[in-house]
Amino acid sequence: MALNLSILYRGPLSSCNYGCDYCPFAKHRETVAELDHDRLALNRFVDWVAGRNGDRISVLFTPWGEALTRRWYREALIRLTNLPPVDRAAIQTNLSCGLEWVERCDKSRLALWATYHPSQIRRDDFLARCRELDRRGVRFSVGVVGLKEQLAEAETLRRELPRHVYLWINAYKPGLGDLTADESHRFEAIDPLYPINTQRHASFGRACRAGRSVISVDGDGTIRRCHFIRDPIANLYEPGFEAALIERPCTNATCSCHIGYVHLDHLRLYPVFEEGLLERIPAGAIWVRESPEFAWNT
Ligand code: SF4
Ligand code: SF4
Repeated sequence: MALNLSILYRGPLSSCNYGCDYCPFAKHRETVAELDHDRLALNRFVDWVAGRNGDRISVLFTPWGEALTRRWYREALIRLTNLPPVDRAAIQTNLSCGLEWVERCDKSRLALWATYHPSQIRRDDFLARCRELDRRGVRFSVGVVGLKEQLAEAETLRRELPRHVYLWINAYKPGLGDLTADESHRFEAIDPLYPINTQRHASFGRACRAGRSVISVDGDGTIRRCHFIRDPIANLYEPGFEAALIERPCTNATCSCHIGYVHLDHLRLYPVFEEGLLERIPAGAIWVRESPEFAWNT
């Protein structure tokens, strides 16, 4: 039977050109051998996708660190978006790389999940990259970590981003108790889905599509149902892995990360995101309707 599968791919890469002070990958460098290992693993994965004629495959790269500064990830997106089995190829990125390469993609199948790090790039420079993406016709979402000290910056970014671009706020859970009710409301005014992200959703025993129609794959092809449950369920490069793609209840107590809980059936978030599920773009521009506080500039 033909597969309809979303794959969250995270290879061995674990380095970043930025230096966010809360991040283990900040300014971490890898050896040439480690980078070679990552490149070969990625090429193997893309070759695998290329051979899946008859299936429908979507891919979200969720690297440890920043991957678009590496040529082989840009080439992978170019290749993936031009492959017949691929519906969507997306990547989480700090948007620090040049963007000419997107012209070689099938942009109808490309999407970026961009995060703004105010300590690492000037707002105007980040906005210029967003406008360039827009001009080039690329789908993308933008996000900011919901740190108390970044609230005003996030509000300014919201005002200056094109209206049709969704700005999500990732709740900074250790700091939630430090936010006043007014500050929480201001984050929610930016992102109406913020309250969902502030919660650790009870997930033990609950139905979740992770492991059935969406999986996590590492550089060796090891399949896990999601990034948050370590037990492997199969290997992508071994015949018959499809048999592992079955319904099973979640075995973790809670799920608190968007790329996980979005697949919990009872939260009913699939209709909220529809086609933008992988790149975190809600359908129907709900952030515009629900954020009258912002005087949109476009
Ligand atoms: S941009 Fe992302 S990966 Fe890089 S240091 Fe900052 S938080 Fe870490
Ligand atoms: S609820 Fe979260 S932790 Fe549980 S299976 Fe789904 S994605 Fe994984």
